[in-house]
Amino acid sequence: MSELRELYQELIIDHGRSPRNFGKLDTANHIKEGYNPLCGDKITIYLQTENGIVTDVKFEGEGCAISMASASLMTQVLKGKSVDDVQALFRHFHTLVTDTDEKEGHEALGKLKVLQGVAEFPARVKCATLCWHTIVAALKNDDQPVSTE
Ligand code: ZN
Repeated sequence: MSELRELYQELIIDHGRSPRNFGKLDTANHIKEGYNPLCGDKITIYLQTENGIVTDVKFEGEGCAISMASASLMTQVLKGKSVDDVQALFRHFHTLVTDTDEKEGHEALGKLKVLQGVAEFPARVKCATLCWHTIVAALKNDDQPVSTE
């Protein structure tokens, strides 16, 4: 188990240092900024949807390793998912990073499971969920910037 834990942490560090799908997306039809004042994490989500399906997603921003890794991993799992799937995944992910008693049943989250350890650090939950709050707001097309506070 300790070996597995180490691997997970390496994956977080790796995604934090070199985030995937980082940059602007010219074809985006939803763009949203999010901010986590608690830590100073800032993110902009560029989302392209077609007939209720996420066809492409990228992001830009700056922040701690957890916030960047979470956004990077999120963009990797969301392509091809329906808008309803995104909301369901966010609810599930939120349980993953907030409920330390709920250790099983997270297979559907795939590689997002690496962020499970965040549940033991309540101050970092908003770092991990900022990208999700932002993408859910992007899908609703409301004009207010997202803040985790
Ligand atoms: Zn942070």
